[in-house]
Amino acid sequence: MDIINPATGVVFSTIKSDTKQTLNSKLENLRKGQKSWKKVTINNRLNCIKKFGKLIQENKFVLAQILTSETGKPLQQSLNEILGAQNRIDHLSQYAEKWLEPEVLVDEGATLEHIKYEPLGVIANISAWNFPYNVGYNVFLYALVAGNSVLYKPSEFATLTGKQFETYLHLAGIPEDVFQCVIGDGSLGQHILEAEVDGYFFTGSHKTGSHIYQTVAPKMVPVQLELGGKDPLYVTEDVVDVKQAAINAAEGAFYNNGQSCCAIERIYIAERIYDEFVEAFTEEVKSYKIGDPNDLSTFIGSLTRAQQLGVLKDQVEDAVVKGATLLTGGSTIDGEGYYFEPTVLANCNHDMKVMIDESFGPIIGLQKVSSDEEATTLMLDTEYGLTSAVFSNNEERAIRILDNMNSGTVYWNCCDRVSPKVPWSGRKNSGLGSTLSSQGIRAFVQPKAYHLRMLS
Ligand code: NDP
Repeated sequence: MDIINPATGVVFSTIKSDTKQTLNSKLENLRKGQKSWKKVTINNRLNCIKKFGKLIQENKFVLAQILTSETGKPLQQSLNEILGAQNRIDHLSQYAEKWLEPEVLVDEGATLEHIKYEPLGVIANISAWNFPYNVGYNVFLYALVAGNSVLYKPSEFATLTGKQFETYLHLAGIPEDVFQCVIGDGSLGQHILEAEVDGYFFTGSHKTGSHIYQTVAPKMVPVQLELGGKDPLYVTEDVVDVKQAAINAAEGAFYNNGQSCCAIERIYIAERIYDEFVEAFTEEVKSYKIGDPNDLSTFIGSLTRAQQLGVLKDQVEDAVVKGATLLTGGSTIDGEGYYFEPTVLANCNHDMKVMIDESFGPIIGLQKVSSDEEATTLMLDTEYGLTSAVFSNNEERAIRILDNMNSGTVYWNCCDRVSPKVPWSGRKNSGLGSTLSSQGIRAFVQPKAYHLRMLS
């Protein structure tokens, strides 16, 4: 498989792909390895994960360069991701034992009722490229701590990073037959769907997620899907500082070049502050430094996938034809690499693709609203349900709106953030099941109920 640097368009590495045969032989080993791994104490499993975290932090500069070279993510943001993902390990260290230990529900009289949490077995983790540390850790670290073995398939756009996970997990003491990385594109992913696996944990697009769900349904094994979004933000007229709200909103929309599942993808602005907000927002976006992702001061690097350039161009053209005002950007950037100008479209409405379809790039649609009711209706007008945000000075008002949102996460005066303490889940086309929190640990085990009767 060729590994392309999206900032230059040049192939800089090649790596041998797995075949159906090597995949099945890895799965056979993982099946054997899991039998011993599930007997290792949780504390010892956690010790391996902690060591893994330490090794990753010790090597973060090299690892950040690898991530940047294959995804085009600005180096500072690669470093941020590697540093930030450590909070999953801290969370597991604090809570895993508590959430996995057997529970005694009834311990009196003749009948005792207990629950034990058993690992699922061998799980497949088919992952995405946009935040491979965050979304990878959410699955494979939690699965390993719960006593499963893991077949990890990185996205073909984050292959080298996936191989690093394998190297460092093994160095940290996770046996080779407990974690294996497989290399390949979607066709290898398809073989995984046909293989014997005890659970599928997928992060990626709704299209692939839905295909996976339907394909593996006859197996009757757990399936968890972390999918895309079209996340709305509503800015009310009572925000204290319109300029600061615009700066924060722009960061939520453009961080990682907009390639975040929970990036702000559409903004509704109260009419009283609309002009002021739009001006401050556009000014902020125009100030972003675009360029070489290896430069620590770059905020906008290249897109990861060349094909997304066409999607973004089409969304801009569609919006402009239907009456949107292009305030900045709108085109690909000439020269090497997959660059697209940070783009702001004002006067948008829901006839436009940019307000309905996932953009997954540096482009945003802004729309004026005249009431909370109108904002709520528009925010809910989507097939997705990952996150929704309100910027307002009035907590009660914001919570009232957020209570009506049909999304797994809601934000007041913040956005585009994830915490390991609370569940990460999508509704509707944004997914199924939860990672992180107690629920994200329990996702990797199956309960067994013990009814124990003392016979006198
Ligand atoms: P894709 O759906 O294109 O790919 C995801 C993974 O599935 C990749 O490893 C891919 O392999 C693999 N794959 C592709 N075809 C198949 C198949 N037929 N069977 C099995 N596996 C297959 O998504 P992207 O990688 O482009 O990720 C971007 C999407 O992920 C966005 O929609 C984003 O919103 C979403 N996302 C959601 C998150 C969440 O937490 N909700 C977090 C991060 C991203 P390959 O790449 O090698 O083709």
